Amino acid sequence: MSTCAKCGACATVCPVFRISGRESHTARGKLHLLHTLGLERSSSVFIDIFSACLLCGACTRVCSRNIDIHTEFLEARTSFSSLTGPHAYEKYLARKLLDYPTSLAGFRILGRACGKILGNTLPRDSGLRLRLALFADTPFLSGEECHGEGGVSVNDGLTWFAGCAARYLFPDVLRSCKALFSRKAVPLHTPDALVCCGLADCAAGDFKAARRKAVRNIEILEATDGPILVSCASCYAHLKKYPVLFATDEGWQARSGKVASRVVELSAFLEEQSVVETSQNAQEKKKLRVFYHDPCHLRHEKVPVDKAREQLKKTGTIKLLELPDGPRCCGQGGLFHVAQPEISALIRDQLVRDVLELHPDVVCSTCSGCLMQWHQGLTAVDSDVKVLHLSQLLQQKNVV
Ligand code: SF4
Ligand code: SF4
Repeated sequence: MSTCAKCGACATVCPVFRISGRESHTARGKLHLLHTLGLERSSSVFIDIFSACLLCGACTRVCSRNIDIHTEFLEARTSFSSLTGPHAYEKYLARKLLDYPTSLAGFRILGRACGKILGNTLPRDSGLRLRLALFADTPFLSGEECHGEGGVSVNDGLTWFAGCAARYLFPDVLRSCKALFSRKAVPLHTPDALVCCGLADCAAGDFKAARRKAVRNIEILEATDGPILVSCASCYAHLKKYPVLFATDEGWQARSGKVASRVVELSAFLEEQSVVETSQNAQEKKKLRVFYHDPCHLRHEKVPVDKAREQLKKTGTIKLLELPDGPRCCGQGGLFHVAQPEISALIRDQLVRDVLELHPDVVCSTCSGCLMQWHQGLTAVDSDVKVLHLSQLLQQKNVV
């Protein structure tokens, strides 16, 4: 951290600094604090500053001194108690919930029921209204609007890590992924015992809990062969980084490395398997206007893998829309939106406003967190623009 040149390149790309204008929110500012005060000086102000980071990776990507800022910040967070800092209890509960992800299905049912009862009575700017809207009947298009499920095998097929949100909160994503690959007669199989990838624990600096989940998943995935398809961008990025969690344990580092080397991202695998077909008779004016939102976890990787745009273009029926200043963060950042709801909402609302000026029909992404953030952002302005996972969009009858 002492090698920071104070050049400020990290500040120019930081979504939090863009909103707050506070130097302490830049990577440069945080590194300076770590260097001059050290972790032993950690206070609630210190924790507040470090929790105001999306861990988006934008600063690490542009750093002129190649500082591994992401790892520095994760390590800084390990010294903070999980029960202090802004909205600590909410973050703690959210992480606990991910220890028992099947309970998310109960939340979906409860959320849907409460949304029906309270949906129209809550004030427009109510945070509860936005959260309940996530569980409304049509946050994503229904399974009936897809081509059909087909080709799903129970015990064998391509190993698939769908992520907790898709498995328990948004089963339409599961249906569309299965249906997409059934076009190539590739059945998808999710081993029941897979648990949360552990990204939220890692981001909170709780490496012990993150390793516990990683060990469980590695043991299960080792019992399978071939590629491991991951349909959530954030889970993909974290599974790829499993070996980093075991830096001091050669045995587990080797095992996690083998599993990580088999992990493939959804859009790249769609390309490899030539799943997407091209429509020959699409008319320009009838093309669906789609804004593709790049998940930060893929965009800022050293080797970006996201081929979603190519897949969407390949359909021939989609017109892709782009922001003049390029892709931007949505402000969700895993538990960032719980720790820093005001900053998170400001980042989100600014992006939503700018994207709506492009007049999209659909906003599409591959990260469950981004999709939830988009859904809330569009609900906040009563927009009827649809929010779809890449698999859902590619599976729509009017797309291909
Ligand atoms: S990780 Fe993202 S939010 Fe955090 S300091 Fe770097 S650019 Fe800013
Ligand atoms: S980009 Fe890197 S070297 Fe430059 S100020 Fe930021 S952290 Fe320091």
